Amino acid sequence: MGLIVHKYGGTSMGSVERIQNVARRVAKWHAAGHQMVVVPSAMSGETNRLIALAKEIHPQPDARELDMIASTGEQVSVGLLAMALKAIGVDAVSYAGWQVAVRTDNAFTKARIQSIDDAKVRGDLDAGRVVIITGFQGVDSGGNITTLGRGGSDTSAVAVAAALKADECLIYTDVDGVYTTDPRIVPEARRLEKVTFEEMLEMASLGSKVLQIRSVEFAGKYKVKTRVLSSLTPPDISLAEEAVSGTLITFEEDDTMEQAVISGIAFNRDEAKITVMNVPDRPGIAFQILGPIAEANIDVDMIIQNASNDGTTDFSFTVHRNEYQQALDVLNTKVRDHIKAGDIGGDAKICKVSVVGIGMRSHVGIASLMFRTLSEEGINIQMISTSEIKISVVIEDKYMELAVRALHKAFGLEQAV
Ligand code: ASP
Ligand code: MG
Repeated sequence: MGLIVHKYGGTSMGSVERIQNVARRVAKWHAAGHQMVVVPSAMSGETNRLIALAKEIHPQPDARELDMIASTGEQVSVGLLAMALKAIGVDAVSYAGWQVAVRTDNAFTKARIQSIDDAKVRGDLDAGRVVIITGFQGVDSGGNITTLGRGGSDTSAVAVAAALKADECLIYTDVDGVYTTDPRIVPEARRLEKVTFEEMLEMASLGSKVLQIRSVEFAGKYKVKTRVLSSLTPPDISLAEEAVSGTLITFEEDDTMEQAVISGIAFNRDEAKITVMNVPDRPGIAFQILGPIAEANIDVDMIIQNASNDGTTDFSFTVHRNEYQQALDVLNTKVRDHIKAGDIGGDAKICKVSVVGIGMRSHVGIASLMFRTLSEEGINIQMISTSEIKISVVIEDKYMELAVRALHKAFGLEQAV
């Protein structure tokens, strides 16, 4: 029998009835002889409600105090779930992050997990108890409560599974796995039975909202066997059926399956494009533009610079939309005059669409099929970036759904009928 970690998202914890269903599902695994650790999120909507309260007091709430408030949703969840388990005769105990302890750095609202003590949890498991640990929160070296960023319970669960060397981490959510693309945009999207960790990492960083990106990083680093599956199936379906449902994140070396060329189409609208015009084309210019941006702690994603004929060129890059205004301010105040550039233009009406697949490594022609498909739809590509296993393009925002649908079809990702 194994040590299993379950993670339940906000929707799965969304009401007393749903929490009781979670308890029944966990009890089923426990009754089969597994040692069980459960990491739930706050009830759906709760974290938003808490953050909104804080913002009513102050539009930019103090980060330490914000974490103090935002972390409470998970504390309610663990207590309720422990009670629900006890109510059906299963011994259970709940812990907040600091009680375990889940240690993090002190970057409030986006803290990173540094270590997890397993002693207390192991003691409870050996005594036959189900252990329920808050998602999303931890404690820094000064004893302050921290949170891991929105969606951080995924990361808590995978980190707990890594620390305990769990046999499997099951992420229960309101979708039944990872799809070739968002089924709300492409109804023919197909559930993937398996996806490699590298593809999942690309998909998470390119906009797929299924898992928080750091959770995928943890899964990769510690080789945590992770499965994404539905919490909406009846809680007492057979364990055998449940254990193979959803999508398993695999490590390429274990994967003997014939790999499709492309596994999925990811997209996001979170970025904005900035262009610095008439930049002198000389050594050091990229550093002079992007250095001050990095100093302001703004992450840059795609970058392009054209070749020049007349000694000047345009230099474009993308940043997160939340940091768009700040990036423009930095360029206007610290960069433009200094390097004697022309105007600074910006465009927030863009989106990024990507095709992802490790099969790309051994197939040629993926880029040309992608570009041909977009051109047939009359969609202009503004920027391109590639890695070994993905190609991303920036296009006008309003064509996003069209592009995703066309690419999904062109790469033959629809479900077989
Ligand atoms: N409750 C937190 C959030 O809404 C963490 C999570 O659900 O993963 O972001
Ligand atoms: Mg989530």
